[in-house]
Amino acid sequence: MNKPIYVTKSSMPSFEEYCEKIKVLWENRWLSNRGCLHKEFETLLQERTGCPYVFLYANGHVALEVGIDALRLPKGGEVITTPYTHCSTTHSIVRNGLVPVFCDINTDDYTIDVNQIEKYITPKTVAIMATHVYGVLCDVDAIDQIAKKHNLKVIYDAAHAFGVKKNGVDISAYGDMVMFSCHATKVFHTIEGGITVFKDKEPYDMINNLVNFGFDGPEDVKWISTNARMNEYEAAMGICNLKHFDEEIAKRKLAYDKYVEMLSNVPGIKLIAPQEGVTLNYAYMPVFFDGYKYTRQEVQDRLQEHNVWARKYFYPIIPDLACYQDQYGDLEFPVSKHAAETVLALPMYADLSVEDVEKICKIILG
Ligand SMILES: *Cc1c(COP(=O)(O)O)cnc(C)c1O
Repeated sequence: MNKPIYVTKSSMPSFEEYCEKIKVLWENRWLSNRGCLHKEFETLLQERTGCPYVFLYANGHVALEVGIDALRLPKGGEVITTPYTHCSTTHSIVRNGLVPVFCDINTDDYTIDVNQIEKYITPKTVAIMATHVYGVLCDVDAIDQIAKKHNLKVIYDAAHAFGVKKNGVDISAYGDMVMFSCHATKVFHTIEGGITVFKDKEPYDMINNLVNFGFDGPEDVKWISTNARMNEYEAAMGICNLKHFDEEIAKRKLAYDKYVEMLSNVPGIKLIAPQEGVTLNYAYMPVFFDGYKYTRQEVQDRLQEHNVWARKYFYPIIPDLACYQDQYGDLEFPVSKHAAETVLALPMYADLSVEDVEKICKIILG
């Protein structure tokens, strides 16, 4: 049996490097609640993103949920969002007492279709929440213009997009709130974890209370909230991984380039074209099988026979999930649906060798 090639594999620092970083915890016995590693990690991220209002969380989903809460959007407000994303995006809207209004994606890069957003705006609309899917950037300038014109907040689920830049600027500069997931399977991770970057100081000031049950000082609780704190072991992993992030991205690029070399210009196989001015992080390798000699299912099965694990990511689309079915009218989202029916995320991680990519592509092309 071949050694399995999974769709992803977590990047890790050396054992010694991590142990060295967590040694301090045996001295100070401060394991969570903004310890010294948490503070160090936060500072590093402020430097890296160039934004002062960076906050850390226990995971990406609570980062979205609590982060949106901190924006204090009026309950019952409508949030225009994408059907082609992780269910976490939509859950975070609904669990904040807001209403998701789905807007289809575009056929070029699978992010929200900015030409359709305005037709969904009503007097109840309070925000646009889009996903930088696969680390591909939404049309941030167009979204910004629409939001300004209609006085809406802009929230980006950038779970896939840590480190992505547009014209040299970190993408956390776009939107009122940007969330990066630091889950073990993501391009940059802290084992479990999440980050939000806020544009304004107000929600940032609020968040410290909201991640800690809504405490307002040591003796009173002012808000009904949750526990969403990142712990020191996670912060230590973040500090170590951040140090190697650029090297890891460079390694991912080698795998990516090989995929592109072997799979572009094949009839029936579609890759997402690079966007002008955007520095990628190579978080995922989504490939769309549309009119190819094998169906998407056949490709997945062929790979699996060789112990290669690809994933239908994302499938199905959010409005088709059991928890959201039939709740948001009978609108159709043909582009999202087609993407979900044709996509396969191929293995992609820093330690994936170019030889393995070649092997994977040969199975696909065979
Ligand atoms: C992974 C992911 C999340 C949730 O992040 P966790 O850290 O796993 O909680 C949210 N949105 C998207 C698009 C994701 O891929």
